Amino acid sequence: GPAGAGKSTVAKLVAKSLHYTFIDSGAMYRCVALESRAKGIAVDNVDGLETIARTIKIQFGSGPDGAQIVLSNGTDVSSAIRTQDISSLVSPVSAVPGVRKYMTSQQQSMGSSGGVVMEGRDIGTVVFPDAEVKIYLTASPEERARRRYEELLAKGTETTFESVLKDQLERDHRDSTRAEAPLKPAEDSITILTDGLTINDVVDNICEIARQKGA
Ligand code: C5P
Repeated sequence: GPAGAGKSTVAKLVAKSLHYTFIDSGAMYRCVALESRAKGIAVDNVDGLETIARTIKIQFGSGPDGAQIVLSNGTDVSSAIRTQDISSLVSPVSAVPGVRKYMTSQQQSMGSSGGVVMEGRDIGTVVFPDAEVKIYLTASPEERARRRYEELLAKGTETTFESVLKDQLERDHRDSTRAEAPLKPAEDSITILTDGLTINDVVDNICEIARQKGA
């Protein structure tokens, strides 16, 4: 689903409830964007970006409080990849075919033995077209922007609702109109519109669907 639909929050809880591994594919693209900025590789340098995607070592682990952390080339980048700067940079970076190629193959190997809840825009369409359960999680643009805005405020980031909504609409437009792996529901996915639903409602709903499929 699109930005701010609650994919990470929900996927993390579904994985916990089913005792599956959670993989946040967006975090992987964010690591590539962060590394490209650190190395001064511009967004139009497709060879440079492809080299980063081919060589970067991304790992998921758990921090001292048990929460998931993201390591990029051995450094904990869990907070650094969530800034608004990186959110804007990641969309053009993730549109580069070479970047997608290497991220997709890493994701496929991470999920190859099953027992995984993978979250992202192209998981059901491109990465795992044969996944047993596919959920397209979405919410209205205003609801999604409101959630992101509250998340940023809680982190102490100075921003306005209007700017979050504008950034998000731009990102949605870019993610869904790009040539490579555009954001769209897989034909065999189940769409859940989360406006007005609690996180627990959504998680229970998805776990029930997964259990019916044998999870
Ligand atoms: O999910 P998140 O907001 O962290 O994703 C950041 C960006 O990474 C998205 O806006 C999108 O451009 C890209 N992305 C992608 N394919 C995925 C996951 C994320 O292109 N499977």
